[in-house]
Amino acid sequence: MPRPQPMSCWTCGTTEPHRPLTEPQKAWLSAEIDEDFVDHYWMCARPGCRNVRTFMTERRFRKKPLRIPPDVE
Ligand SMILES: [Zn+2]
Repeated sequence: MPRPQPMSCWTCGTTEPHRPLTEPQKAWLSAEIDEDFVDHYWMCARPGCRNVRTFMTERRFRKKPLRIPPDVE
């Protein structure tokens, strides 16, 4: 599994470690955004954030933060 990577997070406004998604998180996100392929998404690991971005695009979803629920590990 890839290691956490520092990336900018637009909701934190800073560079934070981002983690690749676990299998349950991928399943949650896939259902949430109706996309089958979600391997390129990363989650901000700052406590209380959990906002999702792709490796290339900081703000993948324009309207609002998309946060992985805390109970989906
Ligand atoms: Zn963040």
